[in-house]
Amino acid sequence: MRGAETRMSDWQQKKAERNRAATLRLQRALPAIFPPAVLRRALGRPFIPPTPRLAIDSYWRAHPLRADRLARAHAAKSGAPAGWTWRLGGDRKSGLAASFRTPPAPYRERAFARGAGFCCVCGQPVYRFGWHADLWNAGANRNATWHCACVIAWQFWNAPSGEAPLLRSLQARRCAQSGGRLWRNAEIDHHVPLFRVWNERRDTLWPALLDYWGLPNLQVINRDAHAAKCADEARDRSAARALASEINTLSFPAKAGNPVNVAHAMKRRA
Ligand SMILES: [Zn+2]
Repeated sequence: MRGAETRMSDWQQKKAERNRAATLRLQRALPAIFPPAVLRRALGRPFIPPTPRLAIDSYWRAHPLRADRLARAHAAKSGAPAGWTWRLGGDRKSGLAASFRTPPAPYRERAFARGAGFCCVCGQPVYRFGWHADLWNAGANRNATWHCACVIAWQFWNAPSGEAPLLRSLQARRCAQSGGRLWRNAEIDHHVPLFRVWNERRDTLWPALLDYWGLPNLQVINRDAHAAKCADEARDRSAARALASEINTLSFPAKAGNPVNVAHAMKRRA
């Protein structure tokens, strides 16, 4: 028992020493102007980040919803590049995503990338320490292609389940589908499923499209409600596929998708 106490106090001493050294390093590297909220959080961490850049990373990691909002707001400032449409590809060269599950990001595509000093997610200039505003009047940081906030937003959009505890607390631990209590095994769901965004809404202007990956389209629902929702969606998808194939195989030589054809197919199915 005594041994365990000694080990604990050794560990606490080491931690205190490490934090003293980290604070000194951070203070030495800190510019005259630095976002106060970031510094406050850094100095309050159990392990103090030793550089301004790490302090900023740590701040955004703690605020993924703020990062999500900021990334979408910055993307709105950029707008979509002229001639861009949401397309899939999957080869590394083009930068096109392989799946509709990846958020559309024109500035990650080779044809539209703005190059060093611009964020590949939102398209806006990246400043010192990966910050999104030029607090230092130093111009764009030519070594950076991501805002620290956009890194976190990108992770959130691609894997929102990583923030399940936060999303659960936003819903006051109630299931968004049934209104009942959220169980431990509740799941994160896209209110409008992403396959539907790709199939039916892909012409939505960018960056409004990004809202489907961000907080506005996310909900936490219990596993049974989620399974029922997925089954409904799968049924809708297969009905849509069946209808499309029926339309395509109709014998009279009108174009697929022609309203006459659709009406005819619907009648045959009824
Ligand atoms: Zn950005």
